[in-house]
Amino acid sequence: MDAERFTRLSLVEIDPAHDGILIEPAYATANNVTGRAIYRNAVCCLRPEACDALLRAAALARPIGYGILIFDAFRPQKAQEILWAFNPDPAQVADPATGSNHTRGIAVDLTLVDAATGRPLDMGTGFDAFCKESYHASTAVSAEAQANRFLLLGLMTAAGWNHIESEWWHYQLPGADWPLLSDDSAPAPMM
Ligand SMILES: [Zn+2]
Repeated sequence: MDAERFTRLSLVEIDPAHDGILIEPAYATANNVTGRAIYRNAVCCLRPEACDALLRAAALARPIGYGILIFDAFRPQKAQEILWAFNPDPAQVADPATGSNHTRGIAVDLTLVDAATGRPLDMGTGFDAFCKESYHASTAVSAEAQANRFLLLGLMTAAGWNHIESEWWHYQLPGADWPLLSDDSAPAPMM
């Protein structure tokens, strides 16, 4: 890793007890596309600006009966290299040579849950399902799943996030000047 490309930063860890946001870090378990755990620590952390925007989204979701469930947030470069080795397709995984917005600490993978039951809403596909049905505008999933995606899209957009068209679960802060963060930006999932 070319250390000069990376900035070290103190990240904000999402605290489910304090922030009212559920976390289920997919890469800390074998329940991800690679079929094995990549992270040692089941933590979700973000740049402070992204954490603020996530809390805004949670505050919009709460009064209408929904909660937020995070699958991934800051992703160390080492983890991005593992994902790239597993699936070196730039349409689906950011090339580590360019760097992922997850490694910039400004991207989050998430879904909505019913606040009463904690059950995730039907989004039509799983998180990290790299297929055409995962596009926000896919009409190949049920009408309910389409409506649930638009609900997530609406409240994340209102909270200041941008979406990418191919992944209903992925959101990132606007702007192109966010630096890549070093793997030891704390608290780090892989340390
Ligand atoms: Zn993502």
